[in-house]
Amino acid sequence: MVTEPVLSVRNLTTSFRTEAGWKSVVRNMGFDIHAGETVAVVGESGSGKSVTSLSVMRLLDPHASRIEGEVILNGRNLLGLSERGMQDVRGNEIAMIFQEPMTSLNPAYTVGRQIAEVLIRHKEMSKDEARRAAIAMMERVRIPNADRRFDQYPHEFSGGMRQRVMIAMALAARPKLLIADEPTTALDVTIQGQILDLIKELQQEEGMAVLFITHDMGVVAEIADRTVVMFRGDQAETGTTEKIFRDAAHPYSRALLAAVP
Ligand code: ADP
Ligand code: MG
Repeated sequence: MVTEPVLSVRNLTTSFRTEAGWKSVVRNMGFDIHAGETVAVVGESGSGKSVTSLSVMRLLDPHASRIEGEVILNGRNLLGLSERGMQDVRGNEIAMIFQEPMTSLNPAYTVGRQIAEVLIRHKEMSKDEARRAAIAMMERVRIPNADRRFDQYPHEFSGGMRQRVMIAMALAARPKLLIADEPTTALDVTIQGQILDLIKELQQEEGMAVLFITHDMGVVAEIADRTVVMFRGDQAETGTTEKIFRDAAHPYSRALLAAVP
């Protein structure tokens, strides 16, 4: 059976306003992600990876940027939605995790409260239900002593544990699509491996589509079914990860591969 992709990006071109007019930084991106599949977007710093993910989420300032093409989530073009409609999509259907969780966690609230609030807002749970469900989520992402740690603040967690909290928050609303923008880049290699394993495991259980952004081909090999290689705003190459590792066509992809130990 042929299933519809969860996410289908078509001719995505994103430009920013400059003194000299509009300047495109992402051009003609196109890829599909099916349920249960991980697509990696890889490329060096400044190649347009984050702009791609922010365009999918429509998180760029609409006055300073222009997003063209189509971003189709479960059959609906997000680029045609109202801002209100987009807020619902961001809360319920797509979740995002970033490189540095400290910037997206509120330092003034306990981590448990922040996870519980997602559940209260999106799953209409009572406070008690949300507390129990949040502790269960924290256990699921293997935060030890979740019951006690529910009442601790973000600064009391290590970088790896904070990223687990972010994953728990991201998955609390049970999104169809998870966008992970360099979620392991700031972590030690061992912790990095643990977080990748956790994302893979949760993805299999939930059947999510995952858009995984990284500059690291080693991480791509670990996690991605298919890979899009970006080079200076263009899509240099796309294919199964296996094919790209076996016989990359674009010289830039080969250069990236040469850097893998
Ligand atoms: P990366 O692949 O490292 O994630 P980005 O997607 O962040 O790269 O950036 C791609 C290009 O777009 C870079 O040249 C960056 O300077 C530019 N850029 C990113 N955000 C903005 C913005 N808000 N306004 C103008 N230019 C931007
Ligand atoms: Mg980036």
